[in-house]
Amino acid sequence: MSDCIFCKMLKNEIKISSIFEDEFVLAFHDINPVAPVHVLIIPKKHINSMADMTDEDSRYLCALTNAARVIAAQLGIDKSGFRIVANTNDDGGQTVHHLHWHLLGGRRMMWPPG
Ligand code: AMP
Ligand code: ZN
Repeated sequence: MSDCIFCKMLKNEIKISSIFEDEFVLAFHDINPVAPVHVLIIPKKHINSMADMTDEDSRYLCALTNAARVIAAQLGIDKSGFRIVANTNDDGGQTVHHLHWHLLGGRRMMWPPG
């Protein structure tokens, strides 16, 4: 999608320093971190949100899960713990409409979320 900020990152039109990449996903630090570790993991395909995934997109889900596991270990939050958040559409608080997972860690998370 031409006006999507995350697609622009995938096309190298916006420079980011990625911390993980495989065939299906790319991960980088959030520009506005809300925790000591705040990483975004995005599929290398424009999908608006979790709600827009299809059965054919399941490989992206596998890749997102694998990336979260690997990055959590890489950044040393696998044992202390972490949270995965996929804000979805308006009530979910999604602001960038290219599916992404937030990987949050490095501090104790609150429950329930706000
Ligand atoms: P959400 O509100 O769940 O849609 O999350 C979008 C996230 O993208 C926010 O946490 C933003 O801080 C983050 N973000 C927006 N632009 C950039 C950017 N250029 N580099 C890194 N993170 C970004
Ligand atoms: Zn996109």
